[in-house]
Amino acid sequence: TTNKRAYNFNAGPSALPLEVLEKAQQELVNYNGSGMSIMEMSHRSKDYDAVHNEAIARLKKLFSIPENYEVLFLQGGASLQFTMVPMNFLTEGKTASYVLTGSWSEKALKEAKLFGQPVEAASSKENKYRNIPALNDIKFNADDAYVHLTSNNTIYGTEWVEFPDTGDVPLVADMSSDILSRPVDVSKFGIIYAGAQKNLGPSGVTVVIIRKDLLEKANTNIPTMLKYTTHADSNSLYNTPPAFGIYMLGEVLKWVENQGGLEAVQKRNEEKAKLIYDVIDSSNGFYKGHATPESRSLMNITFRVADEELEKKFLAEAKEAGFVGLNGHRSVGGCRASAYNAVPVETCKALADFMVEFQNKNQ
Ligand code: PLP
Repeated sequence: TTNKRAYNFNAGPSALPLEVLEKAQQELVNYNGSGMSIMEMSHRSKDYDAVHNEAIARLKKLFSIPENYEVLFLQGGASLQFTMVPMNFLTEGKTASYVLTGSWSEKALKEAKLFGQPVEAASSKENKYRNIPALNDIKFNADDAYVHLTSNNTIYGTEWVEFPDTGDVPLVADMSSDILSRPVDVSKFGIIYAGAQKNLGPSGVTVVIIRKDLLEKANTNIPTMLKYTTHADSNSLYNTPPAFGIYMLGEVLKWVENQGGLEAVQKRNEEKAKLIYDVIDSSNGFYKGHATPESRSLMNITFRVADEELEKKFLAEAKEAGFVGLNGHRSVGGCRASAYNAVPVETCKALADFMVEFQNKNQ
């Protein structure tokens, strides 16, 4: 290919696989000989129907989603799921337990307070969200509507390695920033949700994986579009779906299959993250990682250049050298390299080399 690609470390929306973009480009104005773009087609057409159902089937297979779960394609981002989860499952007087591991879990908790009495299950806030709480520090009640956690903390760069066993209480996870980066035992969860724009495709689609028995227990006296049952009962075709985004998501899933599936993807992600963490760890304090090593994310590598002035220089020179998206989230500052599935090993290697070179020149 002649396409020159940026060293893209954006946190979200993020890099997409080049192969997927090129295929979409080829099919853009004439999908499958139809003389139309997928964007111009009826969402009730045969061509679109195949795209839609194949994307669902492919996600079920790739993520080993058991039979008793529905896969939904919704809109409104993961942020609307912060609202939909409690709106469907919490009511005045009912509790749910929220594990606080960063800004996104705080936002989820804030929405739940509008519907019921959510409580903190555990929090690493006092430790500046550097770690994931230990499994046996997570408190919840047997009559909670659910327990909520954020599997990967995009802003702080921490990630759960193992998930708590919540027994009969449904476990709800925001997997926006690490879904499909590794195999997960979906049967441990009542609901998994994720905005698509990191590992799954472009923004505009939100994936919800929900256990079927929960649908029967959901609140009914809520707006039609905000009921999970509305979308489950209509195969996510109650209204016009984000068709192009779902098409792209399907293509990304094919790409993940071609990478060898989730185990292969995980291995590559480990290799990529290690390239950068190793530079941080062997820098004698020139670079400082934010997350405690056992909670480090494979997706978002957060660090500081210990000297504040040099950090500004680092970010400016990195930008100059063609690295995109290395500034930390505006709420925390510092540096962050987001190495989602579609970020090639070579891109991480280039950053690791740049970091070593920068240290050698400036210490
Ligand atoms: N949850 C997590 C973990 C995220 O990283 C983000 C976005 O970066 C969100 C939720 C919000 O997602 P959206 O922009 O799709 O509403």
